[in-house]
Amino acid sequence: MDQEAKVIMLGTGAPVPNLERMPSAELLIMENIPILIDCGEGATTQIMKAGFQPQDIHHLFFTHLHCDHMLGYGQFLIGGWTLGRKKLTVYGPKGTRDFHEAVLSTLRSDVEYRKSLGRSPEGILDVEIIEIEDAGLVNTSLPIEVTCEEMVHYEPTFAYRFQTKDKAVVFSGDTSPVNALVQLSEGADVIVHECCLTSNSAYEGNDEQEHRIWESLQREHCTPQQAAETAKKAGVSTLITNHFLPDINERQVYDEIASVFNGNIIVSEDLQEIKL
Ligand SMILES: [Zn+2]
Ligand SMILES: [Zn+2]
Repeated sequence: MDQEAKVIMLGTGAPVPNLERMPSAELLIMENIPILIDCGEGATTQIMKAGFQPQDIHHLFFTHLHCDHMLGYGQFLIGGWTLGRKKLTVYGPKGTRDFHEAVLSTLRSDVEYRKSLGRSPEGILDVEIIEIEDAGLVNTSLPIEVTCEEMVHYEPTFAYRFQTKDKAVVFSGDTSPVNALVQLSEGADVIVHECCLTSNSAYEGNDEQEHRIWESLQREHCTPQQAAETAKKAGVSTLITNHFLPDINERQVYDEIASVFNGNIIVSEDLQEIKL
């Protein structure tokens, strides 16, 4: 049966532990193919809660390798394999191969154990890693055009655009405002845009270190208004915001975005599905 094209927000949180929101991960369904974008802690169970099976996901794109985007990779890798996945391709910035090898090395003895039980190593010891070096077209086997641009964040970070003949969706990853994201998102139907810099009690008050961290974060992330500016300049139809710190005021975030952007606004929550 044909799957409707959609985005499922698996995790809409950030690194700060949060009972309401899991760390970053999204599932994109396009051309009947489920594609995982980032793999924060708990992504595998979130995939299952969303009605999909980890072994059916053969493509994972990392925007970057900060903890909130990759700590779920070990479980996705070995859990999907034990459920029968035979093939996996992982795309990401430079460092993705070392990261994968490091995770696999912690699992080495576990993999040996499962092989000794009779399980084929296919699907875990032969994972294809594609490290992206430059902006532009990403070389994939997907029937979807994937392009990327480099973002402004402490780590090498790519935003991705997935384009078919009639739909386009962009995932920003983490970034401060940057024109490359406007260009990548030009005319897209949907942009999933990080929105980490909401007014937040955790960083307010008199703690000098927390105050300093908050100041520094202004160089790495976006406010609701900044996300809205990008969506407006790019002329996208729908702006989905994510990457939220704990205890945000969703209404306030919505209003701040709406003061800039006239399109469809979604202040997303975990497991929310948005049709493309
Ligand atoms: Zn980050
Ligand atoms: Zn992040």
